[in-house]
Amino acid sequence: MILINENYTKLPGSYLFSDIARKVNEFKTAHPDANIIRLGIGDVTKPLPQASIEAMHKAVDEMADAATFRGYGPEQGYDFLVNAIVQNDYKDYRLDISTDEVFVSDGSKSDTGNIGDILGLDNIVAITDPVYPVYVDTNVMVGRAGNLQDNGKWSKIVYLPCTAENDFVPSLPTDKVDIIYLCYPNNPTGTTLTKDQLKVWVDYAVENKALILFDSAYEAFITESDVPHSIYEIEGAKEVAIEFRSFSKTAGFTGTRCAYTVVPKTLMGYTKAGEKVSLNKLWNRRHTTKFNGVPYIIQRAAEACYSTEGKKQVKATIDYYLNNAKIIREGLAAQGLQVYGGVNSPYIWVKTPDRMTSWGFFDYLLNELNIVGTPGVGFGPSGEGYLRLTAFGTLDNTKEAVSRLKNISL
Ligand code: PLP
Repeated sequence: MILINENYTKLPGSYLFSDIARKVNEFKTAHPDANIIRLGIGDVTKPLPQASIEAMHKAVDEMADAATFRGYGPEQGYDFLVNAIVQNDYKDYRLDISTDEVFVSDGSKSDTGNIGDILGLDNIVAITDPVYPVYVDTNVMVGRAGNLQDNGKWSKIVYLPCTAENDFVPSLPTDKVDIIYLCYPNNPTGTTLTKDQLKVWVDYAVENKALILFDSAYEAFITESDVPHSIYEIEGAKEVAIEFRSFSKTAGFTGTRCAYTVVPKTLMGYTKAGEKVSLNKLWNRRHTTKFNGVPYIIQRAAEACYSTEGKKQVKATIDYYLNNAKIIREGLAAQGLQVYGGVNSPYIWVKTPDRMTSWGFFDYLLNELNIVGTPGVGFGPSGEGYLRLTAFGTLDNTKEAVSRLKNISL
């Protein structure tokens, strides 16, 4: 008899984006001529940097010649990419990360989801709320989350609300936790932590022998100087934090797939008997056993993002999205709406007017202005009363959406 992992049966269906799609389709059927603008998607729209395209073409040609063909590569990533990562993302920021602390992968979704493989099931997990759903669902899958309660929360997960009331800065938990997921710049709120605010968490983790899983997928969007680019800028972080970075939003690799995870060698976990074990060693074992490396061609494309030309092209795209974010932020604020994020992030988090629910505001924007957002409640209970807009659309569509928002009448 095939016994299943029953934790999967606890997972509610992932209805958020299918519900949005259903509502948009119904609206389109009823109003076939409506020009709908989608500001809900978290996917990029600009193409890859030209430097990456050229590097990929060259790498493809290498694969056609027996002398330069590559088969299985090192699971942790080719030296050329790992060296570029260490130099540009760490050494250039005077951060001491070594090449054997970097693990190249096919995405931060996989890595933030898989990291739990090397962590005990009895750990108490804390998440910020609202949150990128992968952190919660992957803990449900292994049985670390408990049961879903009527209030929309999992019984064993500690929720750290991030709302306008606390300036989107999570408070330390009152009960002791062992694993803390932090994502900054944040998806979905678009907000950040300053170095001092992040230090509070690193200090907590050091004091409580806790682990911080720091998702930095939106690092490239940071514009303000007091926002850390890496958690390792904070003293003590190399003893308590794993950092996840991705080329997806940085350089348009959402469909191309390349990311990396840093697991410092100084980071220790513990056996139940209290014996120290290197998490770097465990992750290396897991990664080399369950993963066979990112394709050579793709790693060459990622490496090219760090060339002089590549850096210019990446920056131009990020600037384009950040300009969209500014247009949205300022346009909404001019209508008297409360807006957050969008300064160090492609996400704009809007407080719904007149105590509307997230879905109520979603329906209003779709039906009256033909704009699609993402209801904040879809990211967790504390997202109720908010809506997420993204800056990943085209400039023309962004401007058109903002001009429609001038007709908002609530
Ligand atoms: N982490 C966060 C917070 C994200 O928002 C996303 C994508 O939307 C990811 C990770 C996924 O990154 P990747 O494309 O590298 O899997």
